[in-house]
Amino acid sequence: MNRTKTVSLLVLGLMLAGVVSGYVLLNPRRTWADTPTYIVDDRGQATVTDNDGGLSNTIAAITSNNAWNGAGAGTVINAVAGDISGFTLGDGVPMLNFEDPTGQCDSTCLAATFTGFYTTTGRGRNRTTTITDADIVTNTAYDWTSTSEPDGCSGEFFIEGVQVHEVGHALGLGHSNVNGATMYPSVSACNNGPAVISADDIAGIVDLYGGGDGGGTCNLGQSGDSCTANGQCCSGKCRGPNGNKTCR
Ligand SMILES: [Zn+2]
Repeated sequence: MNRTKTVSLLVLGLMLAGVVSGYVLLNPRRTWADTPTYIVDDRGQATVTDNDGGLSNTIAAITSNNAWNGAGAGTVINAVAGDISGFTLGDGVPMLNFEDPTGQCDSTCLAATFTGFYTTTGRGRNRTTTITDADIVTNTAYDWTSTSEPDGCSGEFFIEGVQVHEVGHALGLGHSNVNGATMYPSVSACNNGPAVISADDIAGIVDLYGGGDGGGTCNLGQSGDSCTANGQCCSGKCRGPNGNKTCR
């Protein structure tokens, strides 16, 4: 996720006028075969001045029902605090690092997810692409905060919202051009909006992982509601003859 620059935002707004918007899946489309358990850097983020450097808040945010696990697709991510000293890209052990040992997330990059690790099996309709690793790094050049920091927010970036965005990448989502969606590519200082996913984000994760019975708070179509596309249904299944489709 990138830090917002006012100028580039304005230009983006003009460029996107009239363009049909919506979530984007990574290409090739891919998912985890089993729900990943992220090891979240137990050192915490050095600039977050709550009890544990934002560690507990980050774990709570990325596994919250306000985020991906509440989309109706069921539990799509687990997370535990742990030692990330063995941090290695592509080793099959997904980690969320509060620093960036790769040095690749700099300038306006707040945090980044390495999405290049996956395998493909089968051919044609049986072709399946499976994510094997997706480590997350954080730019320490920024001043971070959490919703539990006692002194409020001033020029800082919320660790919760930015990491919920990165986990969206880790689960197979690209950037959405819907302003206000968690998967929008940039965020302003002191805006924790991305911690709560939007209808567009929900449609994206339901497209990838299905859903409707996950016990979450899916606000999309329920069984029997009329629809025109899979992404409008909590189940991810819009079926029936054209002009008379319903969520199944
Ligand atoms: Zn991003």
